[in-house]
Amino acid sequence: MNTPVDRLPVVVVGAGPVGLAAAAHLLERGLEPLVLEAGDEVGAAVRQWHHVRLFSPWRYDVDAAAARLLAPTGWQHPEPTGLPTGADLVEQYLEPLAATGALAPRIRTGARVVALSRVGLDKTHSLGRDDRPFLVRVRSTDEQGRTTVVDHHARAVIDASGTWGQRNPLGVSGLPAPGEAEAAPFLAGPLPDVLGAERDRFAGRRVLVVGAGHSAANTLLNLARLADEEPATRVVWAVRGASVQRAFGGGDLDGLPARGALGARLRDAVGSGRIELRTEVAISALEPHGDEVVVVAGTPAGERRLTVDVIAAATGFRPELGMLRELRLDLDPGVEAPARLAPVIDPELHSCGTVPPHGADVLAHPETGFFIAGVKSYGRAPTFLLATGYEQVRSVAAHLAGDSEAAADVQLDLPETGVCSSAAPAVTAGVDGGAGGAGGACCGSSAPRPVTTGAPVGFPTGFAHGRSGEAPAARRAGASGC
Ligand SMILES: Cc1cc2nc3c(=O)[nH]c(=O)nc-3n(C[C@H](O)[C@H](O)[C@H](O)COP(=O)(O)OP(=O)(O)OC[C@H]3O[C@@H](n4cnc5c(N)ncnc54)[C@H](O)[C@@H]3O)c2cc1C
Repeated sequence: MNTPVDRLPVVVVGAGPVGLAAAAHLLERGLEPLVLEAGDEVGAAVRQWHHVRLFSPWRYDVDAAAARLLAPTGWQHPEPTGLPTGADLVEQYLEPLAATGALAPRIRTGARVVALSRVGLDKTHSLGRDDRPFLVRVRSTDEQGRTTVVDHHARAVIDASGTWGQRNPLGVSGLPAPGEAEAAPFLAGPLPDVLGAERDRFAGRRVLVVGAGHSAANTLLNLARLADEEPATRVVWAVRGASVQRAFGGGDLDGLPARGALGARLRDAVGSGRIELRTEVAISALEPHGDEVVVVAGTPAGERRLTVDVIAAATGFRPELGMLRELRLDLDPGVEAPARLAPVIDPELHSCGTVPPHGADVLAHPETGFFIAGVKSYGRAPTFLLATGYEQVRSVAAHLAGDSEAAADVQLDLPETGVCSSAAPAVTAGVDGGAGGAGGACCGSSAPRPVTTGAPVGFPTGFAHGRSGEAPAARRAGASGC
């Protein structure tokens, strides 16, 4: 408590790619980072999807300050155009980075941050608030299973704890559907390793995949491959919207060819009938019965029931905000992202992978010295890219070091998706007099192609069949392909 605030560390919550990059930038700025990671190893969330290949090539996956920290160790930057898997990202980048002499002593694993506050002040107290250190409450469990809770003090906090642990429920209202908890044994994670460790769970089974993002696309394509090898495997894909245009992506227009190819392959798999698409499915209940589960859903044709053996819930993620309860936040009430960032990433208004450059000013909260960065900064929005997070933490570190000019000089080179539903509003300059946004410069030049699904097969009593359609977000926003 007696250590002067400016001699306390900057706590970074989470040792994922963005948390470790934050630490590298803080070190470059002469600030002392302390990285607290809930998992037993760095990159704990990425390890969960080790089998998935990123669509971003290495040149977008390595932070510049991290590369500078790694350079003297003899580390070789992977081939810039190569596409790593999650496992490659951990083994060839995050582990060597965390093992550098500079970072290793500043990372604590097995340390879960459970709450943040100001030392001696609850949320209602304003007087002298900005001068008080942050209180960071950390829960650790030792090898004997004993749990300890320790309070750390910090001059500032960067929350880069991601969203991996908080999957959105299957229930259409944002709440778990009745029976969802009881159906837990039938629910696979968002990205099950269907061709590897979890193959037996899926081979020859009736599988329902729920969701319309990249996680769903990855899982569906692996399931289609599995169905080729194990023809008894049945794959149904249920989405809430009327169209899967966005999931099919921009194809050749995508600035990241691997991302474009993912959508194109998915379109083909649906077109060939290997994946049975059901649109406008609103799951209202799950009814486990013995070895199978009945999924009850509203469809345009009325209530439908589908019996399956396993459900891959690729419903997206949401940020954990409970641990931030004692901090003064300015979050968008819908997207749960920093209020000034939310309008340019809101999935109802904006479907591009691009985002206007933004840094400390846009990420700031009324709680001075507190920032949410990385995929958590996107709240419930799904289009986060590592390159965005690296630039966020570069700017935040510059801001914390008092270099407002560098903090405001945000640069971002993001490949476009080639499919876009709306022009993005500009991000305006803020406390640091930031560079403002390149709002609207987000889209590929052509409108997305309409979706044509193949002849649906199977599950005669299942959900309504998929159909072509315009992206619902495009309808709402009244926009075309920009
Ligand atoms: C399958 C998949 C593929 C992706 N592909 C790409 C791609 O090709 N290109 C791209 O740019 N992006 C991609 N992304 C998006 C994004 O870049 C990744 O999600 C990335 O891991 C985000 O990094 P992060 O550091 O913000 O969060 P995370 O990697 O989620 O790291 C957060 C860390 O915080 C820890 N943590 C959580 N809670 C706490 C707590 N309370 N206390 C302490 N520690 C905590 C976690 O254990 C974790 O290690 C992909 C995402 C997924 C899921």
